[in-house]
Amino acid sequence: MEQLVLRARAAFQTGRSRPLSFRLQQLRALQRMVQECQKEILGALAQDLHKSEFNAYTQEVVNVLGELDFVLEKLPQWVAPEPAKKNLLTLMDEAYIHAEPLGVVLIIGAWNYPFVLNIQPLIGAIAAGNAVIVKPSELSEKTATLLAKMLPQYLDKELYHVINGGVKETTELLKQRFDHIFYTGSPGVGKIVMEAAAKHLTPVTLELGGKSPCYIDKDCNIDIACRRITWGKYMNCGQTCIAPDYVLCEPSLQSQIVERIKETVKEFYGEEIKKSPDYERIINLRHFKRVTSLLEGQKIAFGGETDEATRYIAPTVLTDVNPDSKVMQEEIFGPVLPIVPVKNADEAIQFINQREKPLALYVFSNNNKLIKRMIQETSSGGVTGNDVVMHFTLSSLPFGGVGNSGMGAYHGKHSFDTFSHHRSCLIKKLKMEGANKLRYPPNSQSKVDWARFFLLKSFNKGRVGLFFLTFLGVLVAIAVKRYQAVLRRKALLIFLVIHRLHWSNKQ
Ligand code: NAD
Repeated sequence: MEQLVLRARAAFQTGRSRPLSFRLQQLRALQRMVQECQKEILGALAQDLHKSEFNAYTQEVVNVLGELDFVLEKLPQWVAPEPAKKNLLTLMDEAYIHAEPLGVVLIIGAWNYPFVLNIQPLIGAIAAGNAVIVKPSELSEKTATLLAKMLPQYLDKELYHVINGGVKETTELLKQRFDHIFYTGSPGVGKIVMEAAAKHLTPVTLELGGKSPCYIDKDCNIDIACRRITWGKYMNCGQTCIAPDYVLCEPSLQSQIVERIKETVKEFYGEEIKKSPDYERIINLRHFKRVTSLLEGQKIAFGGETDEATRYIAPTVLTDVNPDSKVMQEEIFGPVLPIVPVKNADEAIQFINQREKPLALYVFSNNNKLIKRMIQETSSGGVTGNDVVMHFTLSSLPFGGVGNSGMGAYHGKHSFDTFSHHRSCLIKKLKMEGANKLRYPPNSQSKVDWARFFLLKSFNKGRVGLFFLTFLGVLVAIAVKRYQAVLRRKALLIFLVIHRLHWSNKQ
């Protein structure tokens, strides 16, 4: 393991991952991999999560292909130096921000979308010019094995590696020194990752989970809201980090919501849900037992059927759920939707704010002001108003958590930024040394005054500025006439003063 990380570092130090042409070539190779190995990818996802070809394609493969298209088009712009705004003291210099790779990056993926959760951050890490070690989740074993087989066939074998294994291997891997760790998984393991990273002062991105609330306002088209919620909640058998975890609504809406979700489930998955090709299974027995244990003592409005042998849990809705019950204490990560009655939007806001900051928040209402108010008065990684999950699909939006649901973000340019160091670059010339006198010792009150004059925005705007301008005009006139030689030496200072006054008057 240590040897692999050292190999990745040695390859990074050759500098070959840095040129734009190399990054684009590797990303195109990744694109080819997804296209040429699509059948195997879909097959592995079917074995791991019982995903149908259509579901696997739309939930995972298409996201990766979309991200690749976007990054391949935009990368030349992102790698270009970004000119920075200058102040008066650096007016003649070159100032820009240079995005440089961090070095060797570790990506630890989760099992619920095992293809996209490894490959999407990998795209960002390659685009930013890094060497990468990918550690897929051992729970989605078939996809993990396939990634280890496929990636070396298409990508540079020294720069990019896949390491498979469970807790023991990940623990060992985390002892190595990385330049960034990108982790997707539970908040509990997120703390272990962050602690290990702290030993080397390695920065981390933690893409975690939590209980994402969904508020349904009474001024709302309940039919449409329930169709959208049913789609986002039961997709991948509820094993989606941004699935609506529970519903908050006024008590009078409860039965209507139950009815609508029940009808929609029937429409989406048919009478025999078990036979639907669109309905997935729980990843393993441990998670199956965990999710079924959350049903104990609850009022099941519909659903609740389970089959341990195939790890099937039917789409389920619980009503009148007590906020102190077990199902409300942990992220459900399964096809169980509790409805918690609240008096109104105020109480919903209070409910959300009394708990850990969630990864996503959903608000359904015809009243746009209410949606904006809930955004304003709560906190979450992301928000979708009048739908669920969809903010994930926009590359322009940073995807990530806040507080207990994570730190940092990715997707599109945000991935590139996450895996880059934004280096401040200022290049001066070895000329005009006279202008530097102001900052060299011995210091004096007049030098402090000049520094304030050049650097403070709040410096006199009105009368003082005009006075200076007039005074300066007289001085310049006299100087031009009598001291042409001196004037040449002081030209820069005079230019800067005039510029400063002009700028000051514009503020
Ligand atoms: P998991 O069990 O697959 O763990 C994730 C990774 O952590 C795996 O690679 C695993 O090998 C490693 N790991 C597990 N235990 C470890 C330990 N003790 N020490 C070191 N490494 C360890 O996945 P999970 O944690 O069950 O994932 C589910 C969670 O992930 C949910 O909370 C879900 O919301 C969250 N999630 C978040 C996102 C997101 O994008 N924010 C996406 C998917 C899942």
